Order: sequence, then structure tokens, then C-alpha cells
Amino acid sequence: MDQIEKKIIETIDQNREQIVAFGRDIWHHAELGYREFRTAGKFNELLKNLGMEVDEGLAITGAKGYLKPKGTAGPTVAVIGELDALPIANHKDTNPETGAAHCCGHHAQLTATIGAALALSVPEVKEALDGNVVFMSTPSEEFVDIDYKNGLRKEGKARYGGGKCELIRIGAFEDIDVALGHHSDTDAEHDAIIMNCSSNVFVNKTVKFKGRKAHAAGFPEKGVDALNAAELALHGIALQRESFRDEDTVRCHGYYLQGGDAVNIIADDVVLEYCVRAKTMEAVKDANAKVDRSFKAGALATGCGLEIETLPGYFSTQPCPDVSALQAALDAVGEDRPLRVKEVPASEHITGSTDFGDVSAIMPLIQFYTTGLTGQLHNNNVEVVDEEIAYILPAKLFALTAYHLLKGDAAGARHLMEIYQPKLDRESYVEYMESMLGTIEMEMDPLPLLED
Ligand SMILES: [Zn+2]
Ligand SMILES: [Zn+2]
Repeated sequence: MDQIEKKIIETIDQNREQIVAFGRDIWHHAELGYREFRTAGKFNELLKNLGMEVDEGLAITGAKGYLKPKGTAGPTVAVIGELDALPIANHKDTNPETGAAHCCGHHAQLTATIGAALALSVPEVKEALDGNVVFMSTPSEEFVDIDYKNGLRKEGKARYGGGKCELIRIGAFEDIDVALGHHSDTDAEHDAIIMNCSSNVFVNKTVKFKGRKAHAAGFPEKGVDALNAAELALHGIALQRESFRDEDTVRCHGYYLQGGDAVNIIADDVVLEYCVRAKTMEAVKDANAKVDRSFKAGALATGCGLEIETLPGYFSTQPCPDVSALQAALDAVGEDRPLRVKEVPASEHITGSTDFGDVSAIMPLIQFYTTGLTGQLHNNNVEVVDEEIAYILPAKLFALTAYHLLKGDAAGARHLMEIYQPKLDRESYVEYMESMLGTIEMEMDPLPLLED
């Protein structure tokens, strides 16, 4: 371990209380995507107290705190934490004001970002970095609360559902060369995971069937049943599954937002939220077309009207061609305290999605998970059981990885930038996102009623 590594670890240990207090505070004040105003305020305030210039209000609640003045020579590494939580009303620590709980552990990412900022701000550490570091908070990673997000889009406040997607669109990643991302995990067998696999692409859909009310027992023949249309559509999607190739890891899933008004009234207004995911863009486009056809089939068979609003979700994660800076960070922490580390290699694929995928399409992204949480993510049983692993370890890994990328004329970062192959640039990314936005409409077309 060299002197700078030692200083980084020492600084984070010395500030342990402040870092953990920040984590607990964010945990108890969870907020939903694009409205994480309190969370953002706390994050920005801390960076400003460290003397950083902070660009605030990016994609509504996001921010970038600059370790050194903007335009500093050399590569710029972004240390990224997410701001948002999940709408889980029945967690014991749900924020009563927002109905949100940190059951995906994003509060720990933000805490780690703050811990890294404390360590890298120490003058001798800062001087050892031949480039800049940006501490970035990103809104709205969880693709939930779609009505609210559609409202923001219509008001022109945020065009995409994912915060990082929106930040790419507005150019907030333009001065970043390498991104570092962290996520919480509940794996009790390991302390840290080098997460370098790919993930699914997805699109999100809001589907509305319009029918006609009637007495469900007295005159059902006078109604046009929107619930039947939706049921038929879902059956159609189920039958499409045999046409999906195993290697494309297609996932089609959704739920009813609205299923009708009463048991004795034919449902005339049924709304679903639906998601189509697959390993590649081509496979998502194929599955998405089949899902749209199935929804149309439900409408056509019953005579219901139909409206499908499709939003682009997230891009597939591109594995990083060189994670040696993270490996060096793990080795340094491991000298002090042996770590149980797992590596998920580039050959593996997860069927969930993240907007870190979008970042990885335009620049190299090094991602790691740390544990210290129990339960299952996205469930109301999530709890932090080891604050050292949940908050302190990722802070050290963030800071040490940034150091290893930027030390010695930033050779690590420069090498990574050279060997990384972007999938898209910002322009073609936005073009792709816009091409996935779309609306399908079918008028209601019931058969005429038979004469009494
Ligand atoms: Zn998450
Ligand atoms: Zn999540």
C-alpha cells in the first residue's frame, strides 16, 4: 500500500461517524425519482462544504461537484451515486411523507460518493491525481411512477424516465471520460463484487383499453369489455413466448394500474404498465413488436379502443475492458482487512436493467457492488446489517479506484479510454432514444348491437 492509498483509507476511517450518519439520514428520508429534493440538498451541501464548485438541478435533482476547477488538464473520472428510492409503503422505515423506502440501497451509493469526496479532497491526495474527479448524483434510476414521469415529459422538464439517460441527453456526461458506479447488494457470502457483466435492454409501455360500460349481469351484451381485451392481449403475449430465442433473454412483464370500477359493471377503462426486455436492441425491437401486436389483437377481437405509449428504458451494460484499477483498490483495502470478493465476468448476463447501461454505451464504466444489506432488493425486508461494508467499504473503493485511474499521469484512465469501444456517441444515443418513443392508437370499433 502506498502513502496515498494509506491516506485515503485513514481519512475515510477517521470520518466514519459522519459518513455513517449521512447514510442513516438518507435511509430514513427516502424520496422517489425526479423529486429527491431533500436528498439532493444534503448531497450538494456536503460537497460545497468541501469547497467544490457544484452544478445543481441537472435533470431536475442531479448534481456534479468538481474536485478541481473545471477544465483541469487530464482525464476526468465521475464517481456516481443514485438519489432515488422505491415506492414501498410497508417497509418499517418507509418515509411517511413520500411512501418511499431505500429497498434498492441507493442511499449507500450516495453515502459512498460522499465518503470518497472527503478522502479525495485531502490536499496531498488531490495533488496525486493527474486529472479531475466529479462527484455526481443521478436522479430516478428506478423506472417506476410512470404517470409522474410522463407528466414531466409533457411539461418538458425531463424527457426520459431514467436519470442518467436524461443527463446524457442534456450533455452532463460530456466532460466525463471514465465512470465509476456502485450498487448495494444482499449477498451474505461476499463483501464486494466486481460487477462486469452485461444486462438487458428494455422499453416501458403504458397501455390503455377503452370499452363501454353496461350492467355486467343484466345487459353484458351492450358493453364492450376492456378487461377482456387486456386478458386476451396478455394471453397473446404468453403465446408469443415460444418465438423468443433463449439466448435473447426476453422478459415481458407488467401489471394492472386500473382494472375496472365495480364487479357488476363491464370495465370500460383498463390500464396496464408493461415492460419488454431482452439482451440486445434487435431482440427488444422484435419482442416489442410482438407485444404491440398482441395488445392490438385484444382490442381488435373485442372492439375496444387502444392506446399504447412506449418509452425507451435502459441500454444494455457494456462490460469494461479493464477493471485493474478496481482490482488494485480491492487489494489495498484487503491489506488492512481481508475481503471476500466475487467477480461476475463479462461472459455473464443479468436479465434486469440499469441506466448505468446507458452510461456504459458512451464511455468506459467500472462497476462494483458491496454488501452489508440483508433481505431481497425491491422487497420490504431490506435492511442494513453491516454499516462498515454498506457505507465505508464502497467509499474506500470509489476513492481508491479513482486514485488508481488518475495517478502517474493518469495512465490507468488513459489506457482504458484507448481500449474502450463506445457503442454510441451522445448524438446517436439520443437518436436511438427518440426512435423508441412512440404512440399507437386504435379507435373503438364494436359491432352494432342486435335489435331487441
Ligand atoms: Zn438499484
Ligand atoms: Zn432497484
